[in-house]
Formats: sequence, C-alpha cells, structure tokens
Amino acid sequence: MKSSSRPNILKIIGQIPAALLIWPLYILPLWTLRQIKLVKKAAPWVLEFELSDEDTRYTKLWKNWAGSSLPFCFIRISKLRINRNNPGLHWATVAKRMRQLVAHELHHNQQQFNLGPLFFPLYLYQLVTKGYQNNPYEVEARRVAGEEE
Ligand SMILES: [Zn+2]
Repeated sequence: MKSSSRPNILKIIGQIPAALLIWPLYILPLWTLRQIKLVKKAAPWVLEFELSDEDTRYTKLWKNWAGSSLPFCFIRISKLRINRNNPGLHWATVAKRMRQLVAHELHHNQQQFNLGPLFFPLYLYQLVTKGYQNNPYEVEARRVAGEEE
C-alpha cells in the first residue's frame, strides 16, 4: 500500500481512541506552547508538525530523535536541527534526509491506519522484545523511506 493512500472510514475510526488521548494531552498543549508548529497536511488525514528550533526542556528531549508519528499527525525536526546534529552535511544530503524522514513517519501513520487500535500495543511489544533497531515496524519504515541506501 502506498504511504499516501487515502484511509477509508474504518481506518479513520480506528485512530479515534488513541487520538482522543494524544491530541488533548500532548499535541494541542505542545502546539499552544509553540514547541511544535504546523507545517502542512502531508497526506490525507495526516498533519505534519515541526519541532521548534529553540532549546527548551521539551525540545531537549529530542536529542536522539528525528521524528515521531502519532494519530493523524507526525512531528519531525527541522532542516536546521538536522544540520546542527550533523555539522558539515551538504544541503542536498540534508534535503534527502528530510524526504526520508517524512516518508518514514508517513509510513508509521499508514501502519497506524492499517492496524487501528492495535498499532500502539503491537509497536510497544515489538519495541520491548526486539529493541528499536530490530522492531519490524521500524525496519519496514526505514526500507520504505530508502534509509538503508
Ligand atoms: Zn520509525
């Protein structure tokens, strides 16, 4: 299935339980406090947020992370932060990493639509038993995003 395919009504409904928790408790407060900003609609039913470039208690938690996919949205770091984390990267490499980052997070959104309310428990189970790198959902997202090249 293409990462940008339009979710049907069942897939949208399947995201509502997690969205009802995560949007009021996480996304909306971060957005209100300007820790994240809305970039655009990245795919049907998926909004793209960018982490603030300012160093705050929250953004410092992102030291080792480039993106995070949540119900109906994902948060990613900016090109400036990609540069800051890897000084001296060519602008074309930064642009390529950004495309891969967006494709990776959008694939997690697709996994969420496909697995519905089971996604977060299944993802956590794989994370705990196999670790981050070997988590099959991460392996698949890296492959789809072309990050192994
Ligand atoms: Zn991932």
